[in-house]
Amino acid sequence: MSETVIGIPQSFADAKINAERYADMYARSINEPDAFWADEAKRLDWYKEPTKISDVSFAKDDLHIRWFEDGELNVSYNCIDRHLPERAGKVALIWEGDNPAFHHSITYAQLHNHVCRFANELKKIGVKKGDRVTLYMPMIPEAAYAMLACTRIGAVHSVVFGGFSPDALAGRINDCQSEFVVTADQGVRGNKGVPLKANVDKALEQAPDVKAVLCIRHTGAQVPWVEGRDFWHHDLALEVDAKCEPEPMKAEDPLFILYTSGSTGKPKGVLHTTGGYLVWASMTHEYTFDHREDDVFWCTADVGWVTGHTYIVYGPLANGATSLMYEGVPTWPGPDRCWRIVAKHKVTTIYTAPTAIRALMREGDEPVSKHDRSSLRLLGSVGEPINPEAWRWYHEVVGDKRCPIVDTWWQTETGGHLITPLPGAHELKPGSASFPMFGVQPALVDTEGNLLPDEGAQEGNLVLLGSWPGQMRTVYGDHQRFVETYFSTYENMYFTGDGARRDADGYWWITGRVDDVLNVSGHRLGTAEIESALVAHELVAEAAVVGYPHDLKGQGIYCYVTLVAGLEPTEETEKTLKAHVRQEIGPVATPDVIQFSPGLPKTRSGKIMRRILRKIAEGEYDKLGDISTLADPGVVEDLIEGHKIST
Ligand code: ATP
Ligand code: MG
Repeated sequence: MSETVIGIPQSFADAKINAERYADMYARSINEPDAFWADEAKRLDWYKEPTKISDVSFAKDDLHIRWFEDGELNVSYNCIDRHLPERAGKVALIWEGDNPAFHHSITYAQLHNHVCRFANELKKIGVKKGDRVTLYMPMIPEAAYAMLACTRIGAVHSVVFGGFSPDALAGRINDCQSEFVVTADQGVRGNKGVPLKANVDKALEQAPDVKAVLCIRHTGAQVPWVEGRDFWHHDLALEVDAKCEPEPMKAEDPLFILYTSGSTGKPKGVLHTTGGYLVWASMTHEYTFDHREDDVFWCTADVGWVTGHTYIVYGPLANGATSLMYEGVPTWPGPDRCWRIVAKHKVTTIYTAPTAIRALMREGDEPVSKHDRSSLRLLGSVGEPINPEAWRWYHEVVGDKRCPIVDTWWQTETGGHLITPLPGAHELKPGSASFPMFGVQPALVDTEGNLLPDEGAQEGNLVLLGSWPGQMRTVYGDHQRFVETYFSTYENMYFTGDGARRDADGYWWITGRVDDVLNVSGHRLGTAEIESALVAHELVAEAAVVGYPHDLKGQGIYCYVTLVAGLEPTEETEKTLKAHVRQEIGPVATPDVIQFSPGLPKTRSGKIMRRILRKIAEGEYDKLGDISTLADPGVVEDLIEGHKIST
């Protein structure tokens, strides 16, 4: 395929980080890391400025990661109080309800008031510094208040996505021995109620240690109530003071626990700490999105995912930005909802996931083009490799070719962006996550763990050679799992679990999870590449590719394909698609099997769960493993029914 390179638009000529500055800062971040990070730490207000900057070892038997160790700070103070002298009247949060008629704005002064009261309510129900508080919330401002209130008093929040079942919720409450739950009567998505409080009650049957539940009245629905255990937020708010002094915390005190999406197995309780995480959240939000004072920043993730933590709440608020929080789904009440929101709130930056982009692309161009998008200046992507086809649509149709796209590669474990273009510094290649963030040292290893040369085009497993402040510190309650998962595959390196290639120009391309790489007749093929070729075909809406044992080739290529709405597959379609992939990538990539399917198994955060597709392709229906984090477990049965025995 011929390579497209998209230049830096004039509108980013005065960006904070241009090419020269990126090169200087990157070099300094690697050559004089402690001096670099001592300076970056100044972006926060500290009660006690750190003098010990880093103390890190990735050695398996002496693993430790400490940043800004002797510093003291408070996260809510940094996200709210310190902005008050200059930004008291500035909008901190714009809330857009599921129902387009409902929306309101919260200024920094109002946020301060809400969070202080909320913090006092938490104290009143018995929450103390160091306690774990589980938040099971809809996308309403109170979710942010609750998170910030925890940080104000030094409690550790664990946000569980509001779409999870009572079982999944109970498992996560018990895993971190949380005695407090914050929830709402109901959530609303696409005009349908989500019974959050009722789910909490069910979950608590299996989580007997929970002492108190704080409930927000959102829809006003009737909900079950346990006297003495359950408290209404609006009742307690009347009883508490509006003043709450922030608790000074040590930089390495735990800030939050967050369970990973579970694409590859049992979710891990990722623990992030206070100082390093907030420096990372603030720095990456500022540089990646070239943050400007009058931006309206819209990250479409749910606060139940790390993207929502870092880029709805902590990064933007630490920087005094205006962050938009949307309650509903992208296509309700119509396929143009997202673009309606952009026009209504004059959004400058959208940050979303490839799965959402592909779904919106399916709706065609008209829902986009009929709305005014002149406020947009930057677009972002996160969560999966973005297919060049979806990239181009996002760039050309959504962004009118004016707006750069930052394709940000990172993980729950990394706290924030690790590899991403900076819009004022880098020309873009569609599908490439481009260059490392300051302080990040990506490298490639072969399967034996040998480092590949750091020059020229290379492909292998992606590792990180040193630490960065936003790195997770442990798996909560299971440090051994932390050591095993990330530091045991290769010595003295953090193993990401992802494969990547670096091209001759030094651009990084994430090829997908290492488990997903195929070996067909001795050729290593990334599933992402084959999927992108399929999605590039006009008949195809979405595709997932896995390997299965093949007598001759070692592995065969099994493709699950969803056609664009309204199309019925024929034998002809199958032939056409096989020929198309062959043409695009080469004969070695020709699919062996194509199974047409109206849906694919996805995690609640919208990622395709290939491990399940692999088991189905192999015919091992009884070995699907944990499917509790699937958005719609029903698709699994359809897929098993449609399984084609390979020929
Ligand atoms: P689990 O670790 O429980 O299996 P998960 O890996 O899906 O779940 P996340 O931390 O939400 O949990 O996702 C991180 C992963 O998402 C990365 O390791 C990578 O595979 C993928 N990813 C994220 N952003 C990008 C991107 N821009 N390009 C390619 N892949 C990405
Ligand atoms: Mg992962």
